[in-house]
This record gives sequence, structure tokens and C-alpha cells, in this order.
Amino acid sequence: MRYRSTRGTAEASAPNFSDILLSGLANDGGLYLPTHWPHVSRDTLTAWRSLPYPDLAAEVIGLFTEGSIDRETLREMCRDVYGRFDHTAIAPLVEVEEGLFSLELFHGPTLAFKDMAMQMLGRLFEHVLKERDRHVTIVGATSGDTGSAAIEAFRGRERVSIVILHPHGRTSDVQRRQMTTVHDKNVLNIAVDGDFDTCQDMVKAMFADETFRQECSLSAVNSINWARIAAQIPYYIRAALALGGPDRPVSFAVPTGNFGNILAAWAAGQMGLPIEKLYVGSNRNDILTRFLLNNDMRVRSVEPSLSPSMDIQVSSNFERLLFEMLGRDPNRCRAIMEEFRQTGFMAVPHDAWENIGHVFRGHALDDAKTSDAMRRFHKESHYLADPHSAIGLATGSYYKEAGIPMVAAATAHPAKFPDAVEAATGIHPELPPHLADLFDREERYDVLPNDLARVKEAVLAHHRAR
Ligand SMILES: *Cc1c(COP(=O)(O)O)cnc(C)c1O
Repeated sequence: MRYRSTRGTAEASAPNFSDILLSGLANDGGLYLPTHWPHVSRDTLTAWRSLPYPDLAAEVIGLFTEGSIDRETLREMCRDVYGRFDHTAIAPLVEVEEGLFSLELFHGPTLAFKDMAMQMLGRLFEHVLKERDRHVTIVGATSGDTGSAAIEAFRGRERVSIVILHPHGRTSDVQRRQMTTVHDKNVLNIAVDGDFDTCQDMVKAMFADETFRQECSLSAVNSINWARIAAQIPYYIRAALALGGPDRPVSFAVPTGNFGNILAAWAAGQMGLPIEKLYVGSNRNDILTRFLLNNDMRVRSVEPSLSPSMDIQVSSNFERLLFEMLGRDPNRCRAIMEEFRQTGFMAVPHDAWENIGHVFRGHALDDAKTSDAMRRFHKESHYLADPHSAIGLATGSYYKEAGIPMVAAATAHPAKFPDAVEAATGIHPELPPHLADLFDREERYDVLPNDLARVKEAVLAHHRAR
């Protein structure tokens, strides 16, 4: 399998999976996509019904790693990774209302769906870096879930150093402690005096500094890394197969931030899985919902909400869908994305917008509606959902049609957002046993001022200490 950028022409010597795994973003600023979508026949899908999750994951991910990683190695990785999840079904389906299913993606080590892919990335990086005899320093910014999932996936790995910046005092206690109580020597946590955007801008500046980037062998595992999307496709296929697919279509509702998780559902459809519709759930940061309603993608300021992992204005993975809807025309894609960056406004050509609307619909819930949804699912179905999952479920409940199973992605464990859950339901959700002593563990992190030079110094020192 070869890859191409959404902003460049397909090349003869196109990169393979291992190349794009390590580089993340294409040099022309675009995002990688496979040069063609692998097709999975109905017979194959039907045969996959009987596979345990790790083996299904290896089949699906294997279509994207073809020519880079052999199938048996991949299968071993999947068995090892998903064997550590604390639910035997890995991603269980729970019927919350008639015809509405919660696809629980939070049974990994850090209690958020990001583990489903990030844990695989840890193994994939290790494999490719060993093969290429390389070492990299992963640098990332987080408002919460990504950082803890990345640290948990890369802790203790020999060929990787990892530095995560978080905004000082602005993450939840659970989220911060999940990062700062990891004491492996390849892990460095930096609390920056600033907000998430400050951290994000610092990371961008480090990647833009070519000399620094080379010196530290910087690498990124943010949600634009195609390998993460690829590792999120299997659970959509598995859920559909469990509910009658491929003989009948299903719909998915996904609480959406960077558009990575829902893009994986769309990719499953490209590969041949019968999907009826895809529903984007948002909080008050509803740029995607506004766009789907009236082709108005206008950046506003990010407002904090009960679902902080969706407090985003620019959904980076949207570019991949746009590229496809423009008939894979990299020139139009580049022009639209550059204009969007300059003006903060994007109007997609009408035909492309209509094509997106054939598949996608949006639904936004403000904080009051999110709390109502948590309260209602708890009262009527005895189901405790965190604010993100509640938005997915409420979106699914809103659009549900008779005869078509609606699967809502539950992206975080309720104990990750205990205050919001308790305020809405009166129940204080308990952390699962492996994290029960989280608040007794010692925290370690450096606090640095909003000063790029100081942060770069710390990254370089961490890189050298490997
Ligand atoms: C990251 C995250 C999301 C958003 O997922 P995207 O792939 O960025 O759309 C939703 N919920 C939770 C809990 C998350 O951690």
C-alpha cells in the first residue's frame, strides 16, 4: 500500500506505511491518504464476523500496512495490545435504548478511545524504529486525553523519547495525573504557563524549525497520523457485523473534535461496509454542525465546555474528507485549505458540500443539554455516560430511524469526568482498579514559562538524555 498527500500529486516513489507512520504530516503540509481504498467483499466481511477483535484488527490494519509489516507480526502486535484492555470484548456494545447502542471505546489503560489506536502506534513505532535502527523524540501538546494516551503507549520504549506539553492548571486532575504519575525515564511532562493554543503553537514552531527538528528527530502522533485512523476502523466494522452487517446497514453517531474518529467510520464505508448515515455530535463549539447545515465553516473562538476533548474549532482531519469530495483534486484542496487558514472561513464548492451532506449530519448540544442527556440516559436506561459519550448518544437518539441500528461511539469512561457526571446524575463514578490509587501517586512535571526557547532547551536536553 502506498500513500499520497491531500495537497500534492501522487508520486512514483510514494511513501509506504512505515514512512508515513514516522513522518505524520506530508512535507507539502497536506495529510496522507492511501493511493486507493482497499476493498473488502461482502463474503469477507461475513467471514470476519467470527474473528476475535485482535484478529479482526490485524486483518483491517493489515490492508494498510501491506508491503511494510508482515501479517503475522501485525497479528501478534494486535493480540498483545488488545489483550491488555480490561474488557474481554475490547469494544463492547451496550443497548441503551431500543435500536441505540453504545460502542464503548474506553476500556484501554487511560479510559479514552484514543487508546484503541495509540496503543497500536506504540507497537508500530517500536517495530519500524528497530527495523530502521532509529530513535525519535515525540513532541505533542494536549488538553487532556491525547497526552495521557500517548504517554501510556510510549512509556519505557527504548527508541522513543516523549515530551508532552499541557497548559498549566487547565487540565482535569484525572487527566493531568494520568500523565504526570508516569515515571519512566523516556517521558517528560512540561506544564506551560498558557492555554492549550500556547502549547500547540510551541509544538508547531518546533516542527517548523528544520534544524531543531532534525537535531531531535522530532516525530508526532497527533490525530492527523494516518496510522491512528487506520487503527480506528476495525471497531466500526466489528460493531456493524455484530448488528447484522453486511446484510443490513447501520448508522454511527460520533462525538467529534478533530474529525479523526468519525473519519475512520467513513473509511470503513469506503472499504465496503454498508453504512446508512454518519452523525457528527458537537458541543457549543459547533463549527462542523454549522457547516453541515449551511456550508458555513467559520472559525470562532474556542469556548470551554463539559466535553473538553471536543473544544476545537479547526478539525484537522476534515481535510481528508474534503479532498475525497473534491474528486481527489490536490490543487483545489490546497487552495481551499490555504484560504481557510488565512481568512478563517471555508465555503466548499456546492457539489462537494452536497455530497458530504448525503452521508453526514450534525447535532450540537450545549452544556445544559449535555447534562440533560447524561441525566436522561442514567434515569431511563441506568446508563452512566461521560459528557462526550452523552453527546454521541443524544445525537444518535435524535436521528435514530426504525430498522437501522444506531451505534454511538462512547469515547471516555465516566470516571474520567467525575464532576460533570456527578453534577448531572448524583452518581460519583469510580476509577477502575488499575487507576484506583491515581490520587496517591507522586506527580512529576516541569513548569515552564510561555517561552519557546526555554521549552526547546528542555526538549533538547530530554532528547540527549536518551
Ligand atoms: C479525542 C476525543 C474526542 C474527539 O475525537 P476526534 O477524533 O478528535 O474527533 C471525543 N471524545 C473524547 C473523550 C476524546 O478524547
